[in-house]
Amino acid sequence: MFKKVLIANRGEIAVRVIRACRELGIKTVAVFSTADRNALHAKIADEAVCIGGPATKDSYLNEKAIIAACEITGADALHPGFGFLSENASFAENCRKCGINFIGPAPESIEMLGDKAAAKAAMKNAGVPVVPGSDGAVKSMEEAVRLANEEIGYPLMVKASAGGGGRGIRLVERPEELEAQIIAAKQEALNFFGDDSIYMEKFIVNPKHIEFQILADKHGNVVHLGERDCSMQRRNQKVLEETPSVVMTPELREKMGRAAVAAAKACNYFNAGTIEFLVDNKNNFYFMEMNTRIQVEHPITEFVTGIDLVKMQMKIAAGEELPFKQEDITLRGHSIECRINAESPEHNFRPCPGKITALHIPGGPGIRIDSSAYQGYTISPYYDSMIAKLIVYAPTREEALMKMKWALAEFIVEGVDTNIDFQIELIKDPVFEEGKYDIGYLGRRSNK
Ligand code: ADP
Ligand code: ADP
Ligand code: MG
Repeated sequence: MFKKVLIANRGEIAVRVIRACRELGIKTVAVFSTADRNALHAKIADEAVCIGGPATKDSYLNEKAIIAACEITGADALHPGFGFLSENASFAENCRKCGINFIGPAPESIEMLGDKAAAKAAMKNAGVPVVPGSDGAVKSMEEAVRLANEEIGYPLMVKASAGGGGRGIRLVERPEELEAQIIAAKQEALNFFGDDSIYMEKFIVNPKHIEFQILADKHGNVVHLGERDCSMQRRNQKVLEETPSVVMTPELREKMGRAAVAAAKACNYFNAGTIEFLVDNKNNFYFMEMNTRIQVEHPITEFVTGIDLVKMQMKIAAGEELPFKQEDITLRGHSIECRINAESPEHNFRPCPGKITALHIPGGPGIRIDSSAYQGYTISPYYDSMIAKLIVYAPTREEALMKMKWALAEFIVEGVDTNIDFQIELIKDPVFEEGKYDIGYLGRRSNK
């Protein structure tokens, strides 16, 4: 096992990784920007290294400073968390060249799956159902018009091949909008990802976003750990997640799980990964993309499987074999996560940085808080507005909902606005209670 792990991230995920390292007897190195001197991850790690200024390009995306920090501290492995450099193939490759074990998949897998058009083509070849659309990237406007009219039909989606985080995606409802939307998507893709290639796919009307967690070791063993329903989204951003999904049946789980495992095998994948699918109202499912990192919402899977995913990531990276087979994995009970953000729902959810003057976090059986916030901490305007994840676990969905409702009611944050009251409304929303929500639900709800 590794002796010392550097965590190339901040916030709650950095804290989460430090905790996993401690339990494995691994020393930890935090990196921080000058804006994060008082951040929790920098305080609780064994060592902490300042890597640059507040802007992410100067610090958490500053590859040279991060690799230098590994060398100075003698860290033999690096955990990238999510966001930042976690899905950057050339960074993973540079770690490899410098003899630092990157806790994630091989750079080749990150590269292949990061090109969403190429990833879709590979999945199709492997027999995984994909959203019908262009075969890879679309090369010209003429090809786009022909595909739209003759093969895909309207409405359709134009997506950046290099996209992520909901960027570079355009819905096209009518033929006369196609050209303008392609130009807009290409422009956004170029701005955000430095690559303007796009692909097209059919727009699935009001589907569910259901993703499968997989774990794969370096010896060819792959298992799935069931699904997460992430359909509660605001502008393509997840708000609340639960497992199991209300629409899941044992047969569908078996089928989708098999597809997820095939997807991982198709690209010689190792470490933790997530395969995102859209599921329509007839339970047809389509591969959308694969995320080659730990996911924000991983704790709900940990609750229902009893498996620590972050510890597994480190064991896999160190070359260990998976200690279980598919038939050893049982899903038990129900888990829900609410993302608690410093934002103002009354002002169109604008971020609300500032000092936390009072903080009371809920507790009790089946309640978990992953957070880097503390009383007196000042939330920086430079980074993500998520300040905590509240995760609950209970034997049934009904009990989990009840637990979440009271845990949210107990949660007190003063000094900054949060979405806690918004989450309470969602939990009590009859549509959510019945499980009848899809990815368009929050958008339709706010238009009412
Ligand atoms: P998950 O799928 O794990 O729920 P999210 O889509 O919420 O993940 O993204 C996880 C984190 O990564 C968020 O902090 C988000 O802002 C960031 N992120 C996702 N995609 C990108 C990207 N392409 N570039 C930069 N940050 C990204
Ligand atoms: P990103 O890489 O930015 O996460 P995704 O391809 O995962 O992009 O799509 C983001 C979200 O957009 C999905 O979670 C889903 O809500 C919606 N979406 C994506 N593709 C389609 C589609 N073909 N039809 C309908 N909704 C879609
Ligand atoms: Mg996605």
